[in-house]
Amino acid sequence: MSKIREKLLAEPGKILKLSEIDPSGTPGCDNKEDGIARYLKNIDRMRVLQYLLYAEGKRAVLAVLQGIDAGGKDGTIQKVMTGLNPQGVQVTSFKVPAGEEKEHDYLWRVHKAIPKWGQMGIFNRSHYEDVLVVRVHNTVPKAVWSKRYEQINSFEEMLADNGVKIMKFFLYISKEEQKKRFEERLNNPEKNWKFSKADLEERNYWDDYTAAFEEAIGKCSKKHAPWYVIPANRKWYRDLAVSEIVKETLEEMDMKLPKPTADLSNIQFE
Ligand code: AMP
Ligand code: MG
Repeated sequence: MSKIREKLLAEPGKILKLSEIDPSGTPGCDNKEDGIARYLKNIDRMRVLQYLLYAEGKRAVLAVLQGIDAGGKDGTIQKVMTGLNPQGVQVTSFKVPAGEEKEHDYLWRVHKAIPKWGQMGIFNRSHYEDVLVVRVHNTVPKAVWSKRYEQINSFEEMLADNGVKIMKFFLYISKEEQKKRFEERLNNPEKNWKFSKADLEERNYWDDYTAAFEEAIGKCSKKHAPWYVIPANRKWYRDLAVSEIVKETLEEMDMKLPKPTADLSNIQFE
């Protein structure tokens, strides 16, 4: 396991304290130039590994991205998945449940979005919203959301046992960094469209979100579906860390090109 991955893994079974992690930290790489060079190598290698995943067509990969507003979920998807074959990648963004989603259990829409064999799925938000925003705003009673950690663990274990390789990323920024990014959205005309009053409102619940993330990550980081806490104040490090972990996880799957379906040595055609 690379140093970066080892340092960022939320150890299964261990209580997580975000106050012990520096969101501006760069564990395993303290030089920006090196970090960028390594990130570029990672995304090159990811392209090859994704080709194998697609060719093999027997297993799927799922990367879950969570983070507070302005945490960098969109930017990470763009930076880390760039260069992959779009035919083999599918991004799903989970919003406030609407329509049919509201008429089912909370995992229904998530299960439907699990990538099929050969595909890499990226979740921009996920079923974890149902123990995050839902908990912070008391949209369902504690008796209901508190049972969900175990349900989520069982659900992810079932997926893992059936061929879905799961990894989960929490993009961790500081409250000051969020302020900076909101200000940028207010002041830069090209980013004005991203500004949302609702995000500002959510900022008032910072401590509640912190507690909710700590519990979700602490209870749901498992060997078959690990959580990684990514210090995300510095975008170059965030991109390096996520690309490194995705690359390594793909590498571990030990994928092979399928054997040709015919004896290719004596095929003739005009
Ligand atoms: P954005 O990612 O900025 O487009 O915002 C999506 C919004 O949907 C966020 O405010 C999420 O908290 C919210 N959301 C996503 N999933 C759920 C859910 N299961 N229940 C309530 N709100 C959700
Ligand atoms: Mg938002």
